[in-house]
Order: sequence, then C-alpha cells, then structure tokens
Amino acid sequence: MRVAVVGLGAMGVAAARVLAERGHEVVAFERHGVAHSLGSSAHASRIFRFSHPDPDYVLLARRALRLWRELERRDGSRLLTASGLLEIGGPHDQVLAAMADANAHVREVDHAEAWRIAPGVAVPDDRPLRWSATAGTLAARDCLLVQADMASRCGAEIAADEAVAEVSETASGVRIETTRRTVLADTVVITAGPWSNMLLGPVGLGLPLAPQLGQASVYRGAKAERQPCVMEWAGDGDEFAYGLPVPGGYKLGINPGAPFDPANDARRVDHQQVLTLSAQVADRYPGLEPFPIRSERCPWTMTPDGDFVIDRRGSMIIGAGCSGHAFKFSPVLGELLADLVDGKPGHPRFAIDRPAIVAANR
Ligand SMILES: Cc1cc2nc3c(=O)[nH]c(=O)nc-3n(C[C@H](O)[C@H](O)[C@H](O)COP(=O)(O)OP(=O)(O)OC[C@H]3O[C@@H](n4cnc5c(N)ncnc54)[C@H](O)[C@@H]3O)c2cc1C
Repeated sequence: MRVAVVGLGAMGVAAARVLAERGHEVVAFERHGVAHSLGSSAHASRIFRFSHPDPDYVLLARRALRLWRELERRDGSRLLTASGLLEIGGPHDQVLAAMADANAHVREVDHAEAWRIAPGVAVPDDRPLRWSATAGTLAARDCLLVQADMASRCGAEIAADEAVAEVSETASGVRIETTRRTVLADTVVITAGPWSNMLLGPVGLGLPLAPQLGQASVYRGAKAERQPCVMEWAGDGDEFAYGLPVPGGYKLGINPGAPFDPANDARRVDHQQVLTLSAQVADRYPGLEPFPIRSERCPWTMTPDGDFVIDRRGSMIIGAGCSGHAFKFSPVLGELLADLVDGKPGHPRFAIDRPAIVAANR
C-alpha cells in the first residue's frame, strides 16, 4: 500500500518506520527537518517511566520499553539511560496498585532512602515517595533520527523539508498537496502535533485539541548529570514539576503550560516563570546553580480527557492529542497507527468517538 505520513515528530517517525518495515511504500513529510527544535518532540531529552495511576498506560510503557531496547540493539546506539525516577506525592496508592497489576518495578521509599538515591533534592517531609530504577531519560533527538534512518533504509522517502498544505479524500484514496507537488496515496497518517487541526479542520475532522506551550530551564551543578529524574505531583493529583539529567546539566520544568496558538508560532521565554523556577531550585535543589544556562519552550497538545487520539476516518489515520506524555510510548503508538493502516481495529481508549471527544465537539 502507498502511505503518506504528515509530520515526523515522535508519533509520525515511529509510524513511518513501522510502516516501511512492514513493506508499505512510505512517503513521509516534515516541514522543518527531522529532530528540529519547534515541535512537541523538540530538544535533547524526555523522561521514560512506567509509573502511572492507570494500568493501561503501565502496559503501554512495558511494551514501549521492549521496543526502545530493540531499537537500541538494532542500531547499536544508546537511546534510553536508566537514571531512575524519584516521584514525590500524587495518587500514591493508585500508582502502586497499577504497578503491581502490571508487575512493574516501582516501590515506595522513605526519606532517608530518597536522600541516598537523589542527594541533590531536598524532599518535603509530608509527601509519599516512590522510586523506579528502570525509568530514565530518552535521548529524544537520537530516537527520532535513528527511526527516520531505519525507515529510509527500508525504502521510505523522507521528505524532510516539505510542508503539506492540504489533504483530501479521493475516490480511491487521498491527495496530498505539498509546497512542491501533488502526491496520491492509498492512506495518509496525520501526525502533525499541535498543527493537526490545520489539516483536519478543512476536511471536517477537526478535534477538540488544546495546544499548550511548556517551558523548561537547564541548570548547572557539579553532579547534575548523575542525578535521577524527579517528578513532583501537586496536591490535587496533577503532575506539577519534573526534572531530568540532560547533557551539560539538569533540566527542570513546571506545569501547566500557557495556551499556544498553532497559527501564530510565537514562543518567547517567560522570564517570570524562569524566576519562579529558579526560586524553587534554590530551595529544593541545593546542588544546582540557581540561574539557568538556557530556557526552552515547546508545545504539547491536550485532549479533554488526557488520552491520545489514534483512529481512522475513511482513508485518513489520525495520531494526535499527545497530552504531554506521548514520547515515551511513541514506538507503541507507531505500531497502533500502522495497525490502523493495515485494517486492524483501533484501541477504544483512543477512539475519535469516545464520550469525552464527542461531548467536547458538540
Ligand atoms: C516541555 C515538554 C516536556 C515533555 N516531557 C515529556 C517527557 O518527559 N516524557 C514524555 O513521554 N513526553 C513528554 N512530553 C510530550 C512529548 O514530547 C510529546 O507528547 C510528543 O513529542 C508528541 O509528538 P508528536 O509526534 O505528536 O508531535 P510533534 O513532535 O509536534 O510532531 C508533529 C510534527 O508535524 C510537523 N508538521 C506539522 N504540520 C505539518 C505540515 N503541514 N507539513 C509537514 N509537517 C508538519 C511539525 O513540524 C512536527 O515536527 C513533553 C512535551 C513538552 C512540550
């Protein structure tokens, strides 16, 4: 089958690779080049974790871990470094129950052990703590580049500097108008991140997506690169702040993001947020210098219920609504998208006609 893929962030590059490996004739479009710094998959690192209050996501993470390790074996590169993850607060009992059901490795720790594990973090006394040694950091850019290369070696055309202006259904498949040419295909996979509705809206498939702009800053510190990842949950159970070792320092971010307009790609650093974060660093991360060496902004896309949209309508397959947590799962999401191309049913949790999406679209 001839399949076009639009957008080569984490979802699209995985879909293009799996499709090419399954023998499809793939043409994949990315307007800014693979591993650029403007999409949701931008910058050097992402956290990989099993830990989640919902067993469905724990199972996805287990499959993803196998796939990341398989990609590493095939390519000979290191994509996932098991630096470990210390979690502070959140729906503690629910997370531990979800992990037990999936036989995954997350355990409760006390404050003394947390201090040994993460000596650079001043952990508050009143919050439950969890430790996961198998969690860690994904080398995000390499994850994209390795998979684009694998797709290309399986015969995919990676059009890495070509924007898609329009997609439409034809009697026998789809027509893709790019800035350079018209391409006909049997199916198109649209994985355009926060920009998905710019292609989906005109064909009547607009989704209730809420793009957000996240911000993170990188701090220097003597042992910064050897610290584990940290995730701190707010009192209401939402993920609030995260930290991870990155080349040259330690990256910290706080949620929520600010609204992001995909049609007006402005993303100036919010200096007030840098100051808020730096005050927390001084208070809670005594091993880090209190002023960042750089700050980064990039967008993610929320759905009303925080679940992805991975579904099919006619000849169009949609992978959207990353909800700020898709990178770690992306090799599995690539498989789910390729399964839809191959005519297999989708995962009901990610369906376009699930109640949360239908209600928001009314
Ligand atoms: C600050 C931040 C921190 C995060 N931390 C984590 C984390 O620790 N762990 C984790 O698992 N997830 C994390 N996430 C979420 C994760 O990074 C995203 O869920 C994931 O990268 C989404 O990938 P995507 O392929 O859906 O979107 P994108 O990466 O945005 O890919 C869409 C691509 O489509 C391209 N495109 C759009 N329109 C067109 C067009 N018309 N023609 C051609 N190309 C087009 C864009 O250029 C873009 O490259 C984080 C996100 C952010 C923003």
